[in-house]
Amino acid sequence: MGLFVGEQLGPHNYKPAWITRWLFPKGLSGNGPSGNGVGIKEKSQPVNFLTGSERKAWLPLGLVFLFRCYLGNFNTFRSFIIYNWREKFGHVKIADQKANKTAAEFKADLKEFTKDHPQIDILGVARMNPDWMFQGMHAPFGDWVVVIAKAMDYDELAHNLKGDFTPALKQVIGGYERTQFAAVDVANWMRKQGYMAKGFGGLAPVKNEWHAVIPPAIEAGIGQLAKNGSLISDKLGSCFRIATVMTTMPLVADQPREQGVDEFCVSCRKCTTDCPPGAIYDEKKLVRGVEKWYVDFDKCIPFMSENKACAICLSTCPWSRPGIAPSLSQKMLKKLARRETATEAAMAE
Ligand code: SF4
Ligand code: SF4
Repeated sequence: MGLFVGEQLGPHNYKPAWITRWLFPKGLSGNGPSGNGVGIKEKSQPVNFLTGSERKAWLPLGLVFLFRCYLGNFNTFRSFIIYNWREKFGHVKIADQKANKTAAEFKADLKEFTKDHPQIDILGVARMNPDWMFQGMHAPFGDWVVVIAKAMDYDELAHNLKGDFTPALKQVIGGYERTQFAAVDVANWMRKQGYMAKGFGGLAPVKNEWHAVIPPAIEAGIGQLAKNGSLISDKLGSCFRIATVMTTMPLVADQPREQGVDEFCVSCRKCTTDCPPGAIYDEKKLVRGVEKWYVDFDKCIPFMSENKACAICLSTCPWSRPGIAPSLSQKMLKKLARRETATEAAMAE
């Protein structure tokens, strides 16, 4: 203990391993202006730590994180190899002739093509917003982003609540590979109709991480940002992975949807309590001009890196238990509606 694996000294008091402390960039914070930008009042594009201005400082920690995820774990290593092979060679040639349809027709066809796809539980479409692009990246793949969500196996993931992180890692890395499989399928369907399209997921090489994925997923109505810094969906809870397709195919955007997540998170502290290093705040933070839920990077990343992607905050969330999310969402939406009615009545008096 201590050299390569940290120690839990008490509730929310995790001492990272010596190697993590040694590799953590001296004088830098992942929450700071060159990282996630907590406290910055002006809106600005997000930073990818491994392509941003401090990339050289973060690289050793990032490499050790990857090394821990893949070394000695055949399943995750296989997912990594398949993923990267598919990203490089899995896209078909773009047809010379563009299919001539309206955006609404393409959208309807897309829904039809994906409705029984084994690796797609939810699909949404958003118009690409430059604010989502990582600083220094410019989208060469058109105006539209399709977001794909696929549930992880909750029972497997939840082994992490008993301190066994290997099944959770398999779910996280395998989940990224499965959603990317679906994203490349969708991209190929578009390419065969003459449109540029490329599927990306959470294991993309750094140079191919074009944009933050949570903002387009919210915009496409997939879910809402939760206190654990991840999405909660009214269908899948917090236990899912997402991948995206950037494309020139004309589409029709879905809309962000109120799902009752924020209202629930305000009075729930499950993830805050259960996060071993105490990285989850009870209150929202100002992050690059937007007030939102935020997870402390400097506390989360050392623990996550040393414990195979961790994901305790996903499995402990009440919304993640299979079958619970739809009813929780309905309950919260009714509560919000009652409050709105009461407010209107009070204003009318
Ligand atoms: S991944 Fe683990 S360490 Fe990070 S916020 Fe979630 S529970 Fe905390
Ligand atoms: S555990 Fe509770 S507070 Fe945390 S994300 Fe889930 S619902 Fe929100």
